Amino acid sequence: MQFDLTAVLVAIIFGGGVMALLAISYGVIHRSITRLWLRSVLNGFTFALGSILVMLQPVQLSEGIIFDARSIIVGIGAAFGGWPTALIAGGITAGYRLMLGGVGAPTGAVGILLAAGLGLVWAWKLKPKGKLRLPAFVGLGALLALNTASVLILPYDIMLNVLTTAVPVIAIFCVIGAAMMGPLIERERHYIRSEKLLLTNALTDPLTTLLNRRGFRDSVDRKLSVDNLNSNALVLVDADHFKRLNDRYGHAAGDEALVKIAQILRSITPDFGDVGRVGGEEFAVFLPNISRNSTKHFAELLCMGIGKTEFRYEGSIVPLSVSIGVAMSPGRSGTDLQDLLKSADRALYFAKSNGRNRVIFADAIGD
Ligand code: GH3
Ligand code: MG
Ligand code: MG
Repeated sequence: MQFDLTAVLVAIIFGGGVMALLAISYGVIHRSITRLWLRSVLNGFTFALGSILVMLQPVQLSEGIIFDARSIIVGIGAAFGGWPTALIAGGITAGYRLMLGGVGAPTGAVGILLAAGLGLVWAWKLKPKGKLRLPAFVGLGALLALNTASVLILPYDIMLNVLTTAVPVIAIFCVIGAAMMGPLIERERHYIRSEKLLLTNALTDPLTTLLNRRGFRDSVDRKLSVDNLNSNALVLVDADHFKRLNDRYGHAAGDEALVKIAQILRSITPDFGDVGRVGGEEFAVFLPNISRNSTKHFAELLCMGIGKTEFRYEGSIVPLSVSIGVAMSPGRSGTDLQDLLKSADRALYFAKSNGRNRVIFADAIGD
């Protein structure tokens, strides 16, 4: 078997470039598409395109037997894109290999489909948890090398020749290729995970894990921009005499009390609502498309639920109660959250100055 070293180098560099582009497009698809199946389908087409591109720059191993990075690309696509990627990238690439013809065409096509299957096997059964490091990709490459078993369908004498000459070389290139492309994909996955984590941290309150003020505002603004048939409600909840609670039982007890209140809020709020911690001991619930009566029922249930909770801290029962101010907005788009908060805050102030542990609607005090 004769190698043209220049052709091998060009194929490796070209293959590496295509792999890097595929890794970038994998990242772009992941960031811009939220639907999993659509992501997987798009990855299928881009990985198919990538593997067809590398087939334009193959290394000729012997008459009709060519080698390139297609199996690595299809295998890695399947390993990270899921079964729709495997099916689409594997199917299109195998079809293209059959179209190219030559004595190795059926073997090549079967090898591509095998690589897609092996990529899936790795993803489902062998992929290590957490951050993927080089040994994981070497393992993936070694597994993808098994796609060379497709040479077994070649005529016997050619098969023997290929098995002893081309197959070991292809197997080594599979490992090298996966060790090259895997970290590129992992880099994208790492950035995507970091971005998600940063975004979650920026929008979440670490103590209660509820939305923080910014997260709450973002989510409510999205809901307020949609026309509702019914009215919307903003329920502002402030823990009573919390400074006193901290002074009497300690700051740690205060923290646990806030977590308890958050749990109750979360459990009573319907799925369509948003709950946030909008201040130190202040929470807000936004309920879109809800009647005044249902809101009244919800707010009173909340006030009573928290008031009746037996919150224990280091053996003592710590009394909890909240005051609630509610503002309703008419069911149309364009309502401003800031106006709703101001209105609910005035109702809350009224609840505080009239004995606490009660619910007051802004419209009931002429607001
Ligand atoms: P009111 O019934 O009028 O609302 O009285 P209050 O004591 O709850 O209100 P005030 O605004 O005077 O005090 C709020 C207290 O909440 C003071 C502050 O130390 C406490 N607080 C705010 N955030 C936290 C927190 O994260 N943890 C704890 N333990 N306390 C907090
Ligand atoms: Mg308070
Ligand atoms: Mg307060």
